[in-house]
Amino acid sequence: MSKTVIIVGGSLAGLIHGLQHKRLGNNVIILEQESGERHSHHAGIGFGINAQEFLRKYDLTGLTPAFASHSRRWAYYTRPNVMNTKGSIQLTSWGLLNSILRANFDGLASAACPNPPPAAEGDGSATYLTGKRVTALQCTKETITVNYVDTHADRPESIEADLVIGADGVNSTVRQLVNAPVTKRYAGYVAWRGTISEKLVSKETVEYLSGHVSLQFSKRTYLLCYIIPTDTGNFEPGERLLNWVWYYNVADDSPEMTDIFTDVTGRLHHNNVSRGLVRSEVWERCRAELLPRISGPFQELLQKTSNPFVTKIRDAICTTASFYDGRVLLVGDAYTTLRPHLGAATEQAAFHSNTLETVYHGKKTPEEWSSGVGRFAQRIILINKIIAELGTGTVFSLLKSILFYVVFLIKLKFGRN
Ligand SMILES: Cc1cc2nc3c(=O)[nH]c(=O)nc-3n(C[C@H](O)[C@H](O)[C@H](O)COP(=O)(O)OP(=O)(O)OC[C@H]3O[C@@H](n4cnc5c(N)ncnc54)[C@H](O)[C@@H]3O)c2cc1C
Repeated sequence: MSKTVIIVGGSLAGLIHGLQHKRLGNNVIILEQESGERHSHHAGIGFGINAQEFLRKYDLTGLTPAFASHSRRWAYYTRPNVMNTKGSIQLTSWGLLNSILRANFDGLASAACPNPPPAAEGDGSATYLTGKRVTALQCTKETITVNYVDTHADRPESIEADLVIGADGVNSTVRQLVNAPVTKRYAGYVAWRGTISEKLVSKETVEYLSGHVSLQFSKRTYLLCYIIPTDTGNFEPGERLLNWVWYYNVADDSPEMTDIFTDVTGRLHHNNVSRGLVRSEVWERCRAELLPRISGPFQELLQKTSNPFVTKIRDAICTTASFYDGRVLLVGDAYTTLRPHLGAATEQAAFHSNTLETVYHGKKTPEEWSSGVGRFAQRIILINKIIAELGTGTVFSLLKSILFYVVFLIKLKFGRN
């Protein structure tokens, strides 16, 4: 029998889980607090094996979702070609993936997908409601009532569900409502991020950056860059975007932190200063300190980026993903917000969805699933830590992070995690 599934949050995790339930024949309603058309932060995302498996199973658009990159090129200080290492990864843009998921979920046409596919046989209904901010949950033995505010009319409303999925991101309301245990902490560094059109940089720099992920290490700081398609799904050379991230150590509550997070209007932000709001003198000062210590292609990227954005890197780590006997679940960033080093946030959301299928088919209990997603998150957290220490830490902190990872693997092997 079809179930009513309410998904809180209509970004990538919400759409992934919404599409899965639609294809499983359930009736799905996504409640998204924001109104109107959604725009990406113009920053790339990793499209890992779980995301690939998910789209193979459920996508009917036939669109190419991502670029494949088969190696990593390493630059050290001003030397651009220190080594090349193998390693496949697929990369894409938030906007393109969002368009593909919306086309499949509720048939929304977009520049990337002007002709969305019709519903497949056996699909349930799919509704995407905007301007609905979820505020409370009431769980009885039979049903769950989701209370929300219609932000257009400023009116409280409610809806009954068999299953509620919290996909409401880093500051998840659902996570608070179920009293999920969560640890939050600042990672000790911020990420400057930017994208620029290939057209704006020299042919040599585009050639240098094409076909692989480029990593640039310098004194306790590192950058990476890879090419992504546009939000409208353009993969053509000359039209693509160069996406870069620069990890930069800043002490919490320091005068420098206040300076970076004070925007053009004088407002101090807690986590993020969006594109267009970063003070140009702050960006120019930070960039000027780094430029003499990095290689030519990365210098050009930073010099030609006039509108970056900056985010404090924080961990938000939760230890339980299933509540009320599996009738309320936390997925994606709402469950655990991963540092962006591996670009694994969407991959985690897809992993949650792929592995939940075993719960929906009665092969695993929600608690077993919750333990599995905990191990998945823990592994990525530890790998992220190694990468962070390699780029921004000391030899001692790097060795410590490797040791933690080895201990984790040993415990995993002997079933003690
Ligand atoms: C508009 C947008 C653009 C983004 N662009 C990029 C990008 O370019 N590059 C990148 O790396 N990452 C981007 N991200 C972040 C990225 O989507 C996530 O890190 C990752 O994909 C995991 O997604 P998520 O769905 O778990 O969380 P999020 O993407 O954070 O989505 C959470 C969603 O829940 C909604 N929500 C929160 N609280 C409530 C509530 N109480 N009621 C109803 N809805 C609620 C939010 O409005 C949001 O849409 C973007 C996120 C958004 C929302």
